[in-house]
Amino acid sequence: MSSTFPRAGTALLLAMTAILATPTAAETPAGAPMLGFDTEAAERERALERELDGKISKDELREWMRRLTERPHHLGSARGRANAEWMREQLSSWGLEARIETFRVLFPTPKERLLEMTAPTVYRATLEEPTLVDDATSGQRKEQLPTFNAYSIDGDVEGELVYVNYGVPADYEELAQRGVDVRGKIVLARYGGSWRGIKPKVAAEHGAVGCIIFSDPSGDGYRAGDVYPKGGWRNRDSVQRGSVADMPIHAGDPLTPGVGATADAARLPLSEVDILTKIPTLPISSGDAEPLLRALGGAMAPEGWRGGLPLPYHLGPGPARAHLKVAFDWSLVDLHDVIATLAGDELPDEWVLHGNHHDAWVNGATDPISGMVALLAEAKAIGELARSGWRPRRTLVWAAWDGEEPGLLGSTEWAETHAEELRAKAVAYVNTDSLSRGIFSPAGSHSLERFVHEVASEVADPEVAVSVDERSRASRIADAKPEDRKKLRERADYRIDALGSGSDYTPFLQHLGLASLNVDFGGQDQYGQYHSIYDSFDHYTRFMDPGFDYLATSAKLTSRIVLRLAEAEVVPLTLERTAEAIGEYAVEIRELTDKLRGEAEERDRLLGERSLVLAADPKQTFVPPPALDRVPILELAPLENSAALFTTSTRAFEAARAAAEARGLAPERRDELNAFLREFERRLTLDAGLPGRPWYRHQIYAPGQYTGYGVKTLPSIREAIELRRWDEANAQIRVIAALLDAARAAVEEMTAKLAPAG
Ligand SMILES: [Zn+2]
Repeated sequence: MSSTFPRAGTALLLAMTAILATPTAAETPAGAPMLGFDTEAAERERALERELDGKISKDELREWMRRLTERPHHLGSARGRANAEWMREQLSSWGLEARIETFRVLFPTPKERLLEMTAPTVYRATLEEPTLVDDATSGQRKEQLPTFNAYSIDGDVEGELVYVNYGVPADYEELAQRGVDVRGKIVLARYGGSWRGIKPKVAAEHGAVGCIIFSDPSGDGYRAGDVYPKGGWRNRDSVQRGSVADMPIHAGDPLTPGVGATADAARLPLSEVDILTKIPTLPISSGDAEPLLRALGGAMAPEGWRGGLPLPYHLGPGPARAHLKVAFDWSLVDLHDVIATLAGDELPDEWVLHGNHHDAWVNGATDPISGMVALLAEAKAIGELARSGWRPRRTLVWAAWDGEEPGLLGSTEWAETHAEELRAKAVAYVNTDSLSRGIFSPAGSHSLERFVHEVASEVADPEVAVSVDERSRASRIADAKPEDRKKLRERADYRIDALGSGSDYTPFLQHLGLASLNVDFGGQDQYGQYHSIYDSFDHYTRFMDPGFDYLATSAKLTSRIVLRLAEAEVVPLTLERTAEAIGEYAVEIRELTDKLRGEAEERDRLLGERSLVLAADPKQTFVPPPALDRVPILELAPLENSAALFTTSTRAFEAARAAAEARGLAPERRDELNAFLREFERRLTLDAGLPGRPWYRHQIYAPGQYTGYGVKTLPSIREAIELRRWDEANAQIRVIAALLDAARAAVEEMTAKLAPAG
């Protein structure tokens, strides 16, 4: 899965001409400190890393990508299985213990897809992506999955069309003010603004009977640049496939929530599955959307809703009517995860994991093979070190997940199957997915923040003579609003992003509570082929990372990350960044309630003075928005106090730990400290999970129920406030404060043990 739309970075591009030079930056001074290593061990580690760099070959990355993208390789396909077997053989030949773990999962594929406009004129949507002579794999018709949204229900519906912009809750408020009701209608939503699964969910909540999702050229099409095959951007026939399961409820196989989908697992009947859409849903190209949009009448869409097609965007409803019919083969298919391990010689029962998915929607060069081949390069390089007699201290585990695209199936089923072992043994999970030319952007557990900055500041950007971390910080400053830059400049590094969902870290971080990190490069590419047949080797090698420079850089970075996690004397997770981030989220919660209170008061004023009604065009329908319920003063003090105390205690812990490491730790004490650090992230989870979605146990990070991939931090509190459930918000504030207090007690106990023996 992973990202969709282009990221900004123009300021950087301008600056680049000035600083283009041979990358010599990121030369680390001798004796530079390294988290979890003493000076001597750090020098040995850096020597090992330089050796690894020499083993990463761009020619191999390119050749592996060509091979793995040769044919379509989605979940359940013959080629998907062949790719898994080929990777297992490669990993074995590099000296790693490699095996395939198979699960059986629900993966519906289309039997029937029909979309036709029935009035005022007749148009039958092509639902086809044509073969292009410039794209060698685009003609592999028989093996390509057609354009569809996975986990849409079957359905045959007919009704007037309504244009709903991105189809998020705020869009329906705008529609209501214009007197547009979607009950009994088919909605036409454009991609963007939220994860796609949110669109049919919100449409169904408002009474729509069908949902069509189209790629507007204002997103990743000609608004961004030349379209494929002249440029890399989405052309008028290209369609974004993708899952529309209600993934914010749980990830993984819909039939086996919370348990591994092994052959003999207990399975829900289809009628009890809670994450399918409620209405039939189908994605289309901008070419197929154009006649439908052109036939819509009614009021003009609000300014910000008008997209990139050369026509006036009307809301409807009607006079355009459509007939939408989809039917799926609801079969179970075999899923093949490839797991490779290199056993640690000192601490074999402590695991460092790196995963990337191998299944694609079609040929999937960017998504996921770019990240997959970088992972293979890392595994090969470390395997070669091992063949010369070297062994890591901890066990390294590499995973090539299957079935990520429909809903993180391969990673989730594996994590659920091995949950007990992972809780006992995992140090951290590192994830990669689509990688391309551009800016490094790390996201994940803040217990890994200091560590990831330390590593990334030692890896040179291949095109600009600074480290990848320095470029990332620069890009955050350049892209920020001027008023936000001061805060960014005050820090030597930057706050890494929190994780929502959209790739395979979700089961590890949010279900099991393991410290997790997602590594990404990209943004200075032409990524207009997300989930289409044109995400191909030809597209990647022309528009994404033609020289394979950023893939090689990413492999060097993640090799260092997993190697340092595996080799450190003391696990390089730190606590104070997590506590600081929670403190910042608590401030955001207060700001959010103040903002909502201000909005409710302003709404009352507008309604009282009738300014909206008096200003509206009397010949157009205008329904004034309803009054908003008052926002009470929430009882935030327990959260703010607990967060502040947590920060103080984690800082004291870090000071005590640094002093103890400098003195030298007795082996038992070191083991106890490592166990404590491994378990730290889990102290931020609750077995009961989040309100209404028990599968998500992490109390600091979760995908939003109405944003999908987008993260909600302190989700139980934040979402209660957004849904205006004030009592629930107050109750959750007390729950989270108690969670932080319990975590703080454990931190203080460990800190006391690290004090010098008196
Ligand atoms: Zn992906």
